[in-house]
Amino acid sequence: MSLPVIQDSSGTQEDPLDLMDEIDVLKKERDVSILAHFYVDGEIQDIADYTGDSLKLARDATQVKTSGILFAGVHFMGESTKIMNPEKRVLIPDLQAGCSLAESCPPDQLAAFQQQLRDQGRDFHTVAYINTSAAVKSLVDWIVTSGNAREIIERVPQDKEILFVPDQHLGRYLMEVTGRKMILWPGSCMVHEVFSIQDLIRMKKRHPESVVMAHPECPQNILEITDVIGGTEKMRRHVMATESPTTFLVATEGTMIHPLEKAAPQHNYIPVPGIMTSSGETCACNRCPHMSLNTLQKVRDCLKNDGPEIEWQDYFATAREVLDRSLLQ
Ligand code: SF4
Repeated sequence: MSLPVIQDSSGTQEDPLDLMDEIDVLKKERDVSILAHFYVDGEIQDIADYTGDSLKLARDATQVKTSGILFAGVHFMGESTKIMNPEKRVLIPDLQAGCSLAESCPPDQLAAFQQQLRDQGRDFHTVAYINTSAAVKSLVDWIVTSGNAREIIERVPQDKEILFVPDQHLGRYLMEVTGRKMILWPGSCMVHEVFSIQDLIRMKKRHPESVVMAHPECPQNILEITDVIGGTEKMRRHVMATESPTTFLVATEGTMIHPLEKAAPQHNYIPVPGIMTSSGETCACNRCPHMSLNTLQKVRDCLKNDGPEIEWQDYFATAREVLDRSLLQ
């Protein structure tokens, strides 16, 4: 099978296989390991040394032996990698690859809200989803991923209230599974927010035997008719543990189909579409526009130019204590 030719912004066409070969040579020359999130293009995942969700990659990053790490994902993930590996060069292919969820919780607004709660005499711990900036991580008590959230929330003393930031949908789901009441920050992910409940019900009717898998960042109405709720690593483990060929309707970022097909090719995976646009087209909203800023060309250029790089900031030290306590202990 031949891959489509890639055209860069200057119009130059490049063969993806040549790019992959070039990346392979460069990463050895520059002593760099590549970590790729499950939401970046499959061809980047194929050339990566490590692939996974945020929790797995945060842990993998501490095992890397090379002096440099290239993180194909979004900015907050590059920051977390630098925080856990201060002595290493951490490169990311595009500094503009942000995250709508992380941006929905600016650190100054969070600090002001926490102060307001303290002024009211409230005794609370702040629990942040890993999809937050390093500046926010330095303001909180705990960091969770969709893979370890339940376990961490159980570590918050019963006499404390919980302020959960930034994802209201994940927070609501966690309130349900842990039985703990939480003050929810009103943030959400632009990708998981748009799954269409009507389309999902229609697809379920068309494939009555199918199993619905959804990320806990999806709104409650989607989670209510979901069979398997979990982050990307849990989804992967679930399909691997299912032996008989099954149809899975998958409500998360569309690129996730790639690692699922690789892990358990016996199944049929159907991505749940996003909400219809007003003109009636089903949009490609289940692709994260930030993740898709990562391309093979940018990975190659980043290795070649030894940048962009995540620079160490003073507040990373505080964020590191929180990450260590939450993810490594
Ligand atoms: S899919 Fe959503 S939460 Fe994940 S990086 Fe993209 S905007 Fe952020």
